[in-house]
Amino acid sequence: MQLQYCVRCVMPHTKPDLRIDDEGVCSACRSYEQRAEVDWDSRRSELDEILARYRSTDGSRWDCIVPVSGGKDSTYQVIRMLQLGLNPLCVTATTCDLSDIGRKNIQNIKNLGVDYIEFSPNPVVRRKLNRIGMVEVGDISWPEHVGIFTIPVRAAVQFGVPLIVWGENSQNEYGGPAAASGDNVLTRRWLEEFGGLLGLRVSDLPGVEGVEERNLVPYTYPSDEDLKRVGVTGIFLGHYLPWDGYSNALLSQAYGFTTPEKIVEGSIVSYENLDNHQTGIHDYFKFLKFGFGRATDIACLHIRRGRITREDGQHLVRLHDGKFPWTYLGKPLAEILEPLDVSVEEFQRICDRFTNKALFRTDAHGELLKDRHGNLTKVNYDNV
Ligand SMILES: [Zn+2]
Repeated sequence: MQLQYCVRCVMPHTKPDLRIDDEGVCSACRSYEQRAEVDWDSRRSELDEILARYRSTDGSRWDCIVPVSGGKDSTYQVIRMLQLGLNPLCVTATTCDLSDIGRKNIQNIKNLGVDYIEFSPNPVVRRKLNRIGMVEVGDISWPEHVGIFTIPVRAAVQFGVPLIVWGENSQNEYGGPAAASGDNVLTRRWLEEFGGLLGLRVSDLPGVEGVEERNLVPYTYPSDEDLKRVGVTGIFLGHYLPWDGYSNALLSQAYGFTTPEKIVEGSIVSYENLDNHQTGIHDYFKFLKFGFGRATDIACLHIRRGRITREDGQHLVRLHDGKFPWTYLGKPLAEILEPLDVSVEEFQRICDRFTNKALFRTDAHGELLKDRHGNLTKVNYDNV
């Protein structure tokens, strides 16, 4: 099999939900192209209207929930909400293996001047879920990706705050079915379709590795009745304000957001995915399954915005994408895997099991070719 790449960015056709059209242009590039026609002034008025509608009139509750990780995008969301005069309740669903820099950036968000709640799920259960996610569906971050959606919704019900202000609609920025691109309200259906569940449902878990139903409260939505009673709804800020991860990072840094000295392993920048040591493993599996990793994602965003050329993007991808995750944010792989009771050797076997062998070079016996660092080589790095 050959990988087909978008002729404008460097995304291969294997990205889930991505379409490359007759002119060789991917749906994410098309979607970006359409941004030029967006009337941002009218979107801004829509936003003002929505916020006015949901704002607390008597000061008896918070105006909105802002789910925050402490990253550049959530820092930006909080800055904007404060500028718009809102009184948000910020909610963090703690990541699986929080880094020191991630902790610093959470502290920074609090110091912007907001009320803040951190929800820390049972770590013993969490490790089991990380392990199940990695072994069963090749996604160590499965519980994290579920929790970042369910926990803020639970907080909305708990504190009687109907409006949740999310960041970007990833389907719009990264491509996806056209129907989802226009979405500006989060529904249960949206979560199920795009929330990264990868065929593993929360309801599949009780009984696996001793996980019980009562361990899964943080990973399930409140009941329909509760959602209705509070009137929980959500918006994607990225639909109403022009969204750019890089300018969010610039602004956030000026408001105290910290980045490491060097680029993050497997990426080409230093300003994102700083809060979880397991993220390197998550991104590596994406590379094994689909032939692109975090470096490709970031290169595409910058190519679309004209900040680097496609050619430079290709070089950067070649240099950094999909490298075996020996460390992430400086923490060695063995230490990241230790709490999951997985050895590096076992990890390598799990990796091989999830590798799409059609995308990588193999020897005459069909065995994956790896260099001395354990890195794979793709069958092709550009259209042939
Ligand atoms: Zn493209």
